Amino acid sequence: MKLPGQLFVDGAYRDSAGGGRSSLINPATEEVFTTLAAANAADVQAAVESAQRAWEGGWRDLAPGKRTEILFKIARLLRDYAEHIAEFEVLQIGKPISDARDEAGLGARVFEYYAGAVSQFGGQTLPVARGGFDFTLRQSMGVVAAIVPWNFPFPIACWKVAPALAAGNCVVLKPASLSPLTALALGEIAHAAGLPPGVLQVLPGSGSVVGDALVTHPLIRKVSFTGSTEVGRHIMGLAARDIKRVSLELGGKSPNIVFADADWQKAAETSPMSVFANTGQDCCARSRVYVERSVFQPFVERFVAATRKLVVGDPTHAETQLGPLVSAGQRDTVEAFLADARRTGATVATGGGRPHAKGYYLEPTVLLNVGPGDRCWREEIFGPVVAITPFDDEAAMLRDVNASPFGLSGSIWTQSLSRALRVARAVQSGVLSVNSHSSVHVEAPFGGFKSSGLGRDLGMSAMEGYTELKNVYVAE
Ligand code: NAP
Ligand code: MG
Repeated sequence: MKLPGQLFVDGAYRDSAGGGRSSLINPATEEVFTTLAAANAADVQAAVESAQRAWEGGWRDLAPGKRTEILFKIARLLRDYAEHIAEFEVLQIGKPISDARDEAGLGARVFEYYAGAVSQFGGQTLPVARGGFDFTLRQSMGVVAAIVPWNFPFPIACWKVAPALAAGNCVVLKPASLSPLTALALGEIAHAAGLPPGVLQVLPGSGSVVGDALVTHPLIRKVSFTGSTEVGRHIMGLAARDIKRVSLELGGKSPNIVFADADWQKAAETSPMSVFANTGQDCCARSRVYVERSVFQPFVERFVAATRKLVVGDPTHAETQLGPLVSAGQRDTVEAFLADARRTGATVATGGGRPHAKGYYLEPTVLLNVGPGDRCWREEIFGPVVAITPFDDEAAMLRDVNASPFGLSGSIWTQSLSRALRVARAVQSGVLSVNSHSSVHVEAPFGGFKSSGLGRDLGMSAMEGYTELKNVYVAE
């Protein structure tokens, strides 16, 4: 598969109407490695109109069995091209190759799940009081805009595109400017698998140009977004005009709560990767660790020792666990947080520096002595930085956990079943794991409470989000 360099519209690659191009930098080498067409408002207009034609002209009314067949074929081809997808991801965002391979496989699994979901998802019949016959229909919406970020570019594109298509919609996919290659590969592969032209369009281009044009386009019925809370808020505001449906998966500041009765040794050894994986650029990163005081000191020692063993380096090497940050700008942002933390009295237990001269690398960093009001305790850093604090009282700890405006994810470590259930109920977040750090399951809903978002990706919940619910009453 060749490195994509154009927009993917109507089943084929083409240049942007305005002729605009942008370049991509490999974050591991800091070098420009390719250039690529950047869409403008005219391209959005053409892509949305073509998607609307594809919806009205056949995709909407295609037999569900046929949709299933095409989605399964897409999954099969994604597996055939998994190595290409993984290589593109390494090049554009510096993701370690072993993670990139896993994520290529995850994308294929998402298509398999929603291929099967087509035949499992439908309406109900309802025993209405006045008699007669009442049933509900789950109908496709039309053209959906999917706007995705650069941290998990390929799997997030799949987990928006697959359920939207499975539910009978057409999709215009806007990848992040830093990570267009795997989204374009998805468009190309889906069409090679038999997806009709126009059903999936892929428009790389700037958020303010392509994103805004999509969100305000009258034919776009739903916007499914993953990214920053700030842009999510902006999209929700624009969507209000036409009462467009939105689903938003935004930032997080997820807690990792370790009780003294837990297998805290296991927690300490596994927790570093719950925040440092993907170099901390993960909305589910467990970046606030609360440890019951009696095990705080030994927990920190183990956590720091495990952190020092992490392999930070060339993302093309199979043993690498942490690649570079995605861009110079992202590293600047993270370093500004670290400078701020030092100023307010935090201690750096390990990390804090740049491990390599070239590439946007940063060492995984453990902060101690962080106060509840400090920026690095309250705000999403989106880099390899964790803060660990002791707690004495469960209720006071939970008050601090829930004081965050975010509520995406979190972990609870305890051997007590009743405590696990009590704390899982109390933590205000959309996704929790007990004695584990696993947040994403293709079959289960994924999304946030409060400022972490609205609506759910994955599972059958995502299918609901890509359909309108209609009730039909038939008199007898
Ligand atoms: P972002 O600006 O929210 O980008 C996410 C997506 O939204 C990208 O495709 C982006 O396009 C697009 N976008 C930007 N402005 C838009 C607009 N006005 N209308 C419609 N779409 C628009 O995120 P970022 O700037 O890359 O990252 C900033 C911070 O966001 C991170 O540090 C992190 O805290 C958070 N973040 C969270 C997640 C998550 O998984 N929840 C993912 C990424 C980032 P362009 O790339 O072309 O700007
Ligand atoms: Mg941005």
